[in-house]
Amino acid sequence: MLEKKPGIKEVQSDAPLARYTTLKIGGEAKRLIQPSSADELAAIIDDLSKGSEPWFVLGGGSNLLVSSKGFAGTVVRTTQITAVERLEHDLIEAGAGSRLPHLARHAAQWGLCGLEFAAGIPGTVGGGVIMNAGAHGSSMSEIVEEATIYDATVNKIITLKKDELGFVYRRCALDPSKHAVLSAKLRLNTDRPEEIEVRIRHNEEYRLRTQPIGFPNAGSTFKNPEPTKAAGMLLDQSGAKELKEGQAAVSALHANFVINLGGATSDQVTSLLHKMQNRVMDKFGVRLNPEWKTLGEFTKEERAVWGP
Ligand SMILES: Cc1cc2nc3c(=O)[nH]c(=O)nc-3n(C[C@H](O)[C@H](O)[C@H](O)COP(=O)(O)OP(=O)(O)OC[C@H]3O[C@@H](n4cnc5c(N)ncnc54)[C@H](O)[C@@H]3O)c2cc1C
Repeated sequence: MLEKKPGIKEVQSDAPLARYTTLKIGGEAKRLIQPSSADELAAIIDDLSKGSEPWFVLGGGSNLLVSSKGFAGTVVRTTQITAVERLEHDLIEAGAGSRLPHLARHAAQWGLCGLEFAAGIPGTVGGGVIMNAGAHGSSMSEIVEEATIYDATVNKIITLKKDELGFVYRRCALDPSKHAVLSAKLRLNTDRPEEIEVRIRHNEEYRLRTQPIGFPNAGSTFKNPEPTKAAGMLLDQSGAKELKEGQAAVSALHANFVINLGGATSDQVTSLLHKMQNRVMDKFGVRLNPEWKTLGEFTKEERAVWGP
């Protein structure tokens, strides 16, 4: 039983998940566990994967829509796994739960650059690897040298090199329902800390101008259908900024951002996503696919937003 494993202190029942997501939406998880080390995370997933109940690895919850009906399984939240180590002059290893903005600044203080693009991405290293998070023309795929993973298909810890991680636009070859990222090694470059800090500030200021930071949101809702076709532009030109469903609305600042005006529910959000998709399909004949992941109970109609 998980409750009896040594070292695992925090097991919470009927845990409200909204507070752990940037959209501030989500019902209760049957169980929430917050390991404080990669070893603990591996031991927990080892246990869970041998049982019959569903489980889910949660990072910063910044690319996620959690059902307001909740999740009848165990959520393992990584954000306490924050160890960061400098292994070589330009190589660092970060725990799965290290926050990308914090890591970018930490690296800058060491005179290490390459993470500036991630300074405004409010996710974790684990979530960043799974999503191949990227911005300003760079992405995790460029800096990840290898990742250590608990592989629940073979019940062991493995290390995968960059090429084996199969990075493509906003995803990698890992399946988060079978693979838990424990840590990642990042190969960076060197520069003067002041120069790196200037680039970090520049990226942060750009976000403040162009994104609805004042409202709960989960970043870009839909993936760009093609590198030259930005989802935000297609949505804007389809008039999507006027769309609203209950307390969920399309941001007036950025048409690919959905904001929670206060008390929005997951079914309001999925209806809104459906309307956004329809607008772009009607105007451009292009199907938009969500970038967000989901957790918990959704109806068949709601799931259709994510495609077949
Ligand atoms: C204001 C804002 C701006 C954003 N800007 C960007 C941007 O510029 N570029 C961009 O790419 N994204 C952006 N995002 C989205 C998001 O921050 C990234 O996708 C980020 O990588 C998600 O990380 P997370 O830890 O929050 O993952 P979560 O949302 O917690 O989870 C996402 C997926 O990763 C899985 N996962 C998380 N951790 C692990 C782990 N350790 N092992 C296995 N699976 C795991 C989860 O199971 C889930 O499937 C933005 C979000 C917000 C709110």
